[in-house]
Amino acid sequence: MLRGRKALVIGGAVGIGRAVCQAFACEGASVGVADRGWPGEKSSIVAELAASGVEAYPDEVDVRDEASVKSVIQHAIVRFGWLDILVNNAGITSGGAPMQNQDFELWAEIFATNVNGVAFGMKHVLPHMLERGSGRIINTSSQLAHKPAPSHGAYCASKAAVTALTASVAQEVARQGVTVNCVCPGMTDTAMLYKGGASFVEEKLKALPIGRPATVSEIAATYVFLASDAAAFFVGQSLSPNGGDVMW
Ligand code: NAD
Repeated sequence: MLRGRKALVIGGAVGIGRAVCQAFACEGASVGVADRGWPGEKSSIVAELAASGVEAYPDEVDVRDEASVKSVIQHAIVRFGWLDILVNNAGITSGGAPMQNQDFELWAEIFATNVNGVAFGMKHVLPHMLERGSGRIINTSSQLAHKPAPSHGAYCASKAAVTALTASVAQEVARQGVTVNCVCPGMTDTAMLYKGGASFVEEKLKALPIGRPATVSEIAATYVFLASDAAAFFVGQSLSPNGGDVMW
């Protein structure tokens, strides 16, 4: 489905991003795996992708830093010759706190990573994709953008910003061959899920129609679809593999 496509996954060493790299490679895409740190994980995923017969390489990025994001995108374009797909997946959360206790250093950190990081990615890949007249940008939002949870205001607001930003930029470029969409995963079995606190997970699972978190590969399938030709008419959408948590 993605044979010959060149993809860069930012936040691709672990968790959902890692599964996206695996799913893209499985469909025949070459994959740049960019992340902050995780040297062992980056080299193991790259070895795994290369063993499956696709071109893959690791790269280092800090999405809070515009120059770092610009450089990792330019590196991918030089390395592959062009870039068809950019996934802006890096994100962080916190243990949560009610608004009267919100730490605004942490708030700024969440927004710098979850919102600025996505904006930097789009800003620096768009000149290349617009010049080529084709490209797919897939941002990672969250089901918490559509169904905000108490005591997680910073994270929920940051992901709502990603969803709105996706729709805004999608309208700017839709007529020029570039689609911009986001994935809004529900509870997914990664390290991040448990950062919200055990009681948060327990309460959410009780109310979740499917009654369990997603596996990372169940989430990655949506990225493959959005990157494929089959998704050509999807513009500014939020696709929500969420086990029934939000049904619209
Ligand atoms: P994770 O913690 O396993 O992965 C987060 C990734 O972001 C890691 O690769 C991490 O290194 C990267 N990252 C964080 N800060 C970075 C920075 N400054 N620069 C570069 N990379 C950075 O968690 P995950 O669950 O795989 O999360 C992936 C994405 O999915 C995130 O955007 C997250 O908000 C979103 N999400 C997760 C869930 C869930 O339940 N796990 C649900 C909805 C959305």
